[in-house]
Amino acid sequence: QLIYGNDGIYRSPRPPLSLPQDPKFSMIQYLFRNLPSISHLTALIDAETGHTITFSVVRTQVLNFSKALLDLNISKNDVVLIISPNSLLFPVAFFAVVAIGAIATTANPLYTTAEISKQVKDSDPKLIITIPPLYDKIKHLNLPCIMLTNSKTPSNSKWYNSSDFINKTSSNALLSDSDFPPVHQDDPAAILYSSGTTGTSKGVVLSHKNFIATSMMVTSDQDHAYGEAKNVFLCFLPMFHISGLVAVLFAQLQRGNKVVVMPRYEMVKMLRAIEKYKVSHFFAAPPVIVGLAKNHEVVKKYDVSSLREIGSGAAPLGKDVLEECAKVFPQTALYQGYGLTETCGAVTLENAAASSQHSGSTGLLDPGVEARIMDLETMQPLPPLQKGEIWVRGPNVMLGYFKNEKATKETIDDEGWLHTGDLGYFDNEGRLHVVDRLKELIKYKGFQVAPAELEELLLTHPEIKDAAVIGLSDVDAGEVPIAFVVRSSYSSLTEVEIKDFIAKQVAPYKRLRKVIFSEEIPKSAAGKILRRELRQRFLSKL
Ligand code: AMP
Repeated sequence: QLIYGNDGIYRSPRPPLSLPQDPKFSMIQYLFRNLPSISHLTALIDAETGHTITFSVVRTQVLNFSKALLDLNISKNDVVLIISPNSLLFPVAFFAVVAIGAIATTANPLYTTAEISKQVKDSDPKLIITIPPLYDKIKHLNLPCIMLTNSKTPSNSKWYNSSDFINKTSSNALLSDSDFPPVHQDDPAAILYSSGTTGTSKGVVLSHKNFIATSMMVTSDQDHAYGEAKNVFLCFLPMFHISGLVAVLFAQLQRGNKVVVMPRYEMVKMLRAIEKYKVSHFFAAPPVIVGLAKNHEVVKKYDVSSLREIGSGAAPLGKDVLEECAKVFPQTALYQGYGLTETCGAVTLENAAASSQHSGSTGLLDPGVEARIMDLETMQPLPPLQKGEIWVRGPNVMLGYFKNEKATKETIDDEGWLHTGDLGYFDNEGRLHVVDRLKELIKYKGFQVAPAELEELLLTHPEIKDAAVIGLSDVDAGEVPIAFVVRSSYSSLTEVEIKDFIAKQVAPYKRLRKVIFSEEIPKSAAGKILRRELRQRFLSKL
């Protein structure tokens, strides 16, 4: 099959997708479409406690949770904020929200009160689903609240307790399918936040179809290689981020795979979980691969022979590191994938069978995804081996940015191409190499840090006249944010004071790692910060 067409479009060599024909088919109907044959199988395992639930129990819990939401007057298109670390209850809550046609927005539990308030202001949720330790961060919002907890303490004046309703099996708790509001595949299911190519965080609106299509895309190689056989996925990628939510949780569960849940990544706990639960697959961000590559001696102490595939994504990973890590896991295929929140997490994924020969690339286009490599000067599509901006089109591309038509139009053009702001090229075999980022975004251990957000905060300081934030390469984190600051003439503000000023207001991964005092911030005639020039300036002084 021709991968690069005469029309300048790259197409996937993988078999085409066959999306459900019925437009009134929600992602939850899709998730449980094979329930009769998998109901008895384990769906989720808590890696720490060993607690296990089957697909049939997941379905019951989702129905009960949906009923509780309807009883709280949550209806179609209402937004519900979920802010929680990974747990067995997270997916149940998420699926329950989208099952009734409501829209889930997820936030990082490390967010500060101010960061949560900002997302709440933008997304306007009617209800918050969280865990008791996070209550202090959200209580000022005065919204109804469901706590995800296994504790038997009954609901109180402050919140509803999920354990009050989640495990009921009596008929007054369970819904029947006809109680669900009808959901169209194009209806919104989730709003995840991303800064896109420029500016601060925006709500990425993803539809039921986006989830269904993406889940097919990321599991199509498994269907090919494993047939009906089920795999065991480890999930430590955060479920509030597209990578944990779709590529692991939704995609693997809809395939009938088992998902072993960890609240966060810790190397030894991960290795123990692989041994104990015979994990066959995991996806990770590059810092995990870097850590494993350096710790052969630790890995050797565990039986990791069940591990068939390790995928890395969310940020660039050097070929050398991947090959070093491959030596630590000689029986395991190691490969990269590439995607964005705006593409529901999918664009390319390496074929496990070909992983070792192609460790520098992010793999072949996922089924149903088209791409273009655009010359930014001529705006012409480029053939293999030439570098340009990566444009993507397919059923995984977001509906748009929430209540932000301007940003949507700047990102998705009239022909449906999403301009990723990433720079890359295809090789002659149709593998995508992502080589640089044209957009402002900084990625710290795979987490998004938007320079514009930190710049806005810096400018609220009375002694700061101007500021610019850029990312610098870092071996462990991938990139770290650093700031250039112009102080007002009388100011004796120090680097430590500025770092503290920011640290108080943001989640730890967004903290400034360095501050450089500057006479001015270089800007274009239109007032745009010249970030490349700043980077050059910094590097030339090293
Ligand atoms: P997010 O929306 O948080 O998933 O971030 C998406 C961005 O992460 C992309 O636009 C890329 O800049 C970067 N990214 C994701 N996967 C890769 C990869 N395999 N190689 C290089 N950059 C990546």
